[in-house]
Amino acid sequence: MPHSSSLHIAIVGAGPAGSSAATFLARQGARVTLLERNRFPRDKICGDGCTPRTLWMLERLGLETLPGTEAAWVDSVYSVSPGGVVLEAAIPPRLFGGKACVIPRQVLDERLVQHAVQAGAELREGVRVEGLERDASGIRLLCRGGETLRADVVFGCDGSPSVVRRALGAPDFPEWEGAFAVRAYYEGVQLSHPRSMAFFWEEELLPAYGWIFPLPGGRANVGLGMRADQLAASGAKLPELMERFCASPRVAAELAGARRVGKVKGHHLPFGSFANHTLFDRALLLGDAAGFVNPLTGEGIEFALESGAFAAETVAEAAATGDFSTRGLGGYARRWESRFRDAFHLNRRVMHVFERPRMLDRIFRAAERSPRVRDELIDIISGDATRLSWRFLMAAALGH
Ligand SMILES: Cc1cc2nc3c(=O)[nH]c(=O)nc-3n(C[C@H](O)[C@H](O)[C@H](O)COP(=O)(O)OP(=O)(O)OC[C@H]3O[C@@H](n4cnc5c(N)ncnc54)[C@H](O)[C@@H]3O)c2cc1C
Repeated sequence: MPHSSSLHIAIVGAGPAGSSAATFLARQGARVTLLERNRFPRDKICGDGCTPRTLWMLERLGLETLPGTEAAWVDSVYSVSPGGVVLEAAIPPRLFGGKACVIPRQVLDERLVQHAVQAGAELREGVRVEGLERDASGIRLLCRGGETLRADVVFGCDGSPSVVRRALGAPDFPEWEGAFAVRAYYEGVQLSHPRSMAFFWEEELLPAYGWIFPLPGGRANVGLGMRADQLAASGAKLPELMERFCASPRVAAELAGARRVGKVKGHHLPFGSFANHTLFDRALLLGDAAGFVNPLTGEGIEFALESGAFAAETVAEAAATGDFSTRGLGGYARRWESRFRDAFHLNRRVMHVFERPRMLDRIFRAAERSPRVRDELIDIISGDATRLSWRFLMAAALGH
C-alpha cells in the first residue's frame, strides 16, 4: 500500500464523485472522511441516466448488481430531430457492452455512499463546509456551526456551485460554459420505446432539447435543458419551456394518461470545456465542482465516478513521495485530460451543430441511410466520441 495509515483525506460532498473517490481511497488504506451537508437518502436533480461507461465505472467500484425494481435497463436510443426524422438504434456492444440504465439518484447515490462506508470511509452527514484555510502542514475545513476539520488533502466534490472551488480561488463558470436543466417525474407512463433513452429536439424549443427516460414501475424522468447564456438571452423560463415541451405532440403522445408526481426542479450544469482549474496545493476538484459535464448531453455521472478513481490514484502516487503540492498532484490533470478533454471539446463544438434544425435533420437522415453515420451519432449522443469523421461532416453539410 502506498498510503501511510496516518494520511487523512477529507472529501466534501457525497455525490458520485465523492463516494467514488472515498471508495477507491479507503481500499488503498487511506483514512477518509466524507462530509455531506444532507442526510441520505437525499435527492439530486438529474435525468437519472447512466451511460454504458457509467455502468462500467459502477462495476469497477463493485456495484454491478442493480435490481430491476430500482433501475430500468435500456439498450437503445430513440431520438427525434426538429423536422421529425426519427433515429432508433441499439447501443452498440462496443460501448461497454451496449447496456445503459436509468436509476433515480435518490437510490443510486445512497447505494454509492453505503459502498464507500463499507470500504472503510467515515461518512459525516449534516455537515456543511463553508470555507477552508491552508498552511504548510495541511488544510483546515471550516464547517457551519464553527467546527473545523484538519486533513492532509481535500477533495472538492460538492457539485455546482462548489464552495470548495470558490475557497480555492478557481473562477466561476462563465454563463456560456454551463447550462440549466429541469426535470420532473411521471407515473403511469406507457412509453412507445420503454427500453430506450429518448431525446427530442423540438424545433420551436431549440436550442433547448428534452428527454424522456424510462424508470421501473411505469414511471419516467422527463426533462429539458438549455445553455445558460442562451436561456438568459431568450428571456424564457425553463419551467415554462418544460410545459411547452410536455405539450408538444410527440411528447404529449408519450405521456398520454400519465401523471406528474412532485414539482419541476432545476439545477446548473458546468461544462467540461471550461475545466481548467482542478489542481491546487493539497486539494483537487472532482465531478461537477471541476466542471466534468459533457457540454452536449449534460451527462456528468460517469465523469464524476471516473474522476474519483483518478484522484485516488494520484494521491497514492503523491503519498509515495510525500509531495502534495500542485506538482506532486500533477498526475490528476494528466489522467483526466487524456480521458475527458477531447470529448468535452468535441461536444462543445457539436453543440453548435445541434442547435441548427436543418443541419440536425440532415444528420438524422444520413444516419437513417448509413450505419457508419448512425454509429457515430450514437457515439456522440452517448458522449463517447472524441473526433468527427469526414463522413459525418459531409452528412451534416449535405445530408448524405
Ligand atoms: C436536470 C439535470 C439532468 C441531468 N441528467 C443527467 C443524466 O441523465 N446523466 C448524467 O450522467 N448526468 C446528468 N446530469 C449531471 C449530473 O447530475 C452531475 O454531473 C452529477 O451529479 C455530478 O456528481 P458530483 O458528485 O460531482 O456532484 P453532485 O451529484 O452534485 O453531489 C454533490 C454533493 O455535495 C454535497 N454538498 C454540496 N455542497 C456542500 C457543502 N458545502 N458541504 C458539504 N456537502 C456539500 C451535495 O449535497 C451533494 O450530495 C444532470 C444534471 C441536471 C441538473
